Amino acid sequence: MGSLDSKVGLIVGVANKRSIAWAIAQAAAAEGASLVLTYQGERLEENVRELAAQLSNVTVLPCDVTDDAQIDAVFAEIDRRFGGLDFLVHGAAFALREDLAAPFVETSREGFRVALDVSAYSLVALARRAAPLMERRGGGSILTLTYLGSERVFPNYNVMGVAKAALESSVRYLASDLGPKGIRVNAISAGPIKTLAAAGISGFSQILQTYRDRAPLRRTVETAEVADAAIFLLGPAGRAVTAEVLLVDAGYHAMGT
Ligand code: NAP
Repeated sequence: MGSLDSKVGLIVGVANKRSIAWAIAQAAAAEGASLVLTYQGERLEENVRELAAQLSNVTVLPCDVTDDAQIDAVFAEIDRRFGGLDFLVHGAAFALREDLAAPFVETSREGFRVALDVSAYSLVALARRAAPLMERRGGGSILTLTYLGSERVFPNYNVMGVAKAALESSVRYLASDLGPKGIRVNAISAGPIKTLAAAGISGFSQILQTYRDRAPLRRTVETAEVADAAIFLLGPAGRAVTAEVLLVDAGYHAMGT
């Protein structure tokens, strides 16, 4: 028996096989969940459909998280197919390329708006629609992905760090709002991993090397390790955990130098 048997989950943020959200999808499917995966725009549709075909019980739908109509359509389809939802994984993040290279002080009004909209507000937009479907199941679990750049300055992480700070704060406010309905809201703060999103950050390889040199475990983390922690938070083992930011970073966050 899997820990997510008979559960239905929505996973937003699969771009390719390196995506953290894809590792979580694989782990959730292995635990018995039925999944809805979304993709942003036609560019990624084929990729996501090919990946989804590797799992059973997966529905693939379009969802640009800046588009309320697309978000509504996803939840309407989940309601129609399943009549409820047990968990939501939010793995969408974006900042303009120029804002991940120039000094933070140069961030444009538009760049700030886009980063906060895609990377933080989208969790609120998704959680609001997920809540009534989760209530019908007697509760649920919402999980997002963040990074230590919310609290500390990493070279070129810039406006994404500010967006992650807003995201982590949103986790706490959502957990407070939705807790009485039995809905838990948490984040995993993952160590750096070479994914498509990470490729947009200038000097990312240097950040990886810093973790190898200084994290207590003297290594970086893999997407499958983040996924294992995600299964804990999504499933019954994490039933008393909410409003939490769980660091899955080989211990790097504890180091002072
Ligand atoms: P990824 O594979 O590139 O995933 C990011 C996803 O966000 C992509 O699927 C991307 O689609 C999607 N996205 C961007 N704008 C969107 C929009 N408007 N609507 C819907 N989806 C949108 O990279 P990842 O590293 O796995 O990132 C997943 C999450 O983990 C992100 O929140 C990231 O900040 C976080 N995280 C990553 C690391 C790391 O080192 N990799 C560490 C800690 C936390 P497109 O490709 O079409 O833009």
